[in-house]
Amino acid sequence: MPEVTSQQPAIDGWFATDDAGVPHLIGSRCPQCGTYVFPPRENNCPNPACANDSLESVALSTRGTLWSYTENRYAPPPPYPSPDPFEPFAVAAVELAAEGLIVLGKVVEGTLAADLKVGMAMELTTMTLFTDDDGVERTVHAWRIAE
Ligand SMILES: [Zn+2]
Repeated sequence: MPEVTSQQPAIDGWFATDDAGVPHLIGSRCPQCGTYVFPPRENNCPNPACANDSLESVALSTRGTLWSYTENRYAPPPPYPSPDPFEPFAVAAVELAAEGLIVLGKVVEGTLAADLKVGMAMELTTMTLFTDDDGVERTVHAWRIAE
């Protein structure tokens, strides 16, 4: 294991943190019909009744309600990074109240399916997905039970 030198998102542009270090997801919004999209993209409004082709970047709600969830008990195959030994983890689909958008994400370590219940309040955080060969911790957005 290399020494950790810094942290970088595993995927650029999906979340950002404010000055206080609080993370939020970055989505896109259609200025014409108000439809939200995640992951963010610059064009192609997903609303079939809307012909607009330019989406704007917006900060999404940091809280939502648990819409569905599951628990992964099998290590993903390469090239997906996975800790060894593999630890089961939960995956949550969280509905953002303001946007009506459902966002999938891993659930933080220590919270498994038995701890979750549809409808419960969840909040966004980040977690380390893996550490690359240069010692850079690659982080992803994640869900945790809201306090
Ligand atoms: Zn639209």
